[in-house]
Amino acid sequence: MDTIKYLLPDSEIPKAWYNIVADLPAPPPPPLHPGTAQPLSAAELEPLFAKELIAQEMSGEREIEIPREVRQMLAQWRPSPLCRARRLEKALGTPARIYYKYEGTSPSGSHKFNTALPQVFYNKIEGTRRITTETGAGQWGSALSIACSMFEIPCEIFMVRVSFSQKPYRKALMETFGGRCIASPSRETEAGRAILATDPECPGSLGIAISEAVEVAVKNADTKYCLGSVLNHVLLHQTVIGLEALRQFELAEDYPDVVIGCTGGGSNFAGIAFPFIGESLRGGRKTRIVAVEPSACPTLTKGRYAYDFGDTGKLTPLVKMHTLGSAFIPPAIHTGGLRYHGMAPLVSHVQELGLMESRSVGQKAVFAAGVQFAKAEGILPAPEAAHAIAALFEEAILCREQGVAKTLLVNLSGHGHFDMTSYMKHVAGELEDYDYPGEEISMALSGLPVVSA
Ligand SMILES: *Cc1c(COP(=O)(O)O)cnc(C)c1O
Repeated sequence: MDTIKYLLPDSEIPKAWYNIVADLPAPPPPPLHPGTAQPLSAAELEPLFAKELIAQEMSGEREIEIPREVRQMLAQWRPSPLCRARRLEKALGTPARIYYKYEGTSPSGSHKFNTALPQVFYNKIEGTRRITTETGAGQWGSALSIACSMFEIPCEIFMVRVSFSQKPYRKALMETFGGRCIASPSRETEAGRAILATDPECPGSLGIAISEAVEVAVKNADTKYCLGSVLNHVLLHQTVIGLEALRQFELAEDYPDVVIGCTGGGSNFAGIAFPFIGESLRGGRKTRIVAVEPSACPTLTKGRYAYDFGDTGKLTPLVKMHTLGSAFIPPAIHTGGLRYHGMAPLVSHVQELGLMESRSVGQKAVFAAGVQFAKAEGILPAPEAAHAIAALFEEAILCREQGVAKTLLVNLSGHGHFDMTSYMKHVAGELEDYDYPGEEISMALSGLPVVSA
């Protein structure tokens, strides 16, 4: 009754990323210029991003070729394993067949490295001299810092202040690879100084850190900005996960009835889910697609679908997405990550089209599920990934109660070895569930930008 692993040779690393836009029944609403509220042109994004990444952001092509150099680098850990969790099935007493796609084998320990590599690659060949970014829990900052060291480009990471203080090892990891890690809000940017002037103790948020990183890129011609989630090109780079899984299910002679992923900005979820949604949109097999988010930051389940800023300082383009308002800061007690105020516009659009569903879970259930998964399968999930595991358990238990043997696939987006403080709080019984901060959300939503239809 051991885990069964489905492995693919290097030659099976996808040759192209999958762009779901080509198969959707309606095009996603375009991003708008924050000043004029007109659709953005590629040229307007050039101060921020490498040109090839902008082209991918706006592309309607179904397949976008992965450069040979990037495929060779992905081969360091890809194709990642698809595992059948036989011991977990037994522990849950479920007739369901449970599979997990494990992204924790990457150098940075999560799926984020799938996009860090191509983003830095394109910047390198276009002559970028420095890269800025933000990081919350530190997974993205670590991935980008490692990729930047491989391509020898300096990297500056604005890290949300609470995480900066609570996660010294994440900072140490980024610095080991030469990244410069700055607690955000900082005194280095106008955006940061403005926040500190009103609240010197501000714990920071992803929205604030994005403002700082974007400001540095806009003000320096040789500097570009990279984002670890949310944008179309980031989701695109993550589709290697689902594309590989499709091939691995052929080896397993099985096919998922349900695909489950956790959602912060939506990239690992889209990475595993979009290729399966594409299969059914092109007339193939139908799969139920489930996104899982924290009840303390319930973007897809409780947010409003509206144009909003991607950051707190209102520097980014306006994008239509499920949002809690760009001023929203999740309660400090919430420790499981997935704290972004918005959602990837493509994931939001796919939900509006009725092609997926979403649900939220409380953090007590999340960490309990993470520990139970670890005991059965020997891998401690990142708290983010444990959200998906908690929803997987609900599905598996439903299968047991109804006596049906469904095939369930979950994206195990990373390991939790840098998140032991949170697991220790769980073990000590110090975690509380913090449901739907309704008041804070309506306050943040009242500041939504007004965009005429
Ligand atoms: C960053 C991260 C997430 C959340 O980001 P998405 O863009 O929604 O995938 C989930 N899991 C892990 C391990 C992460 O590092």
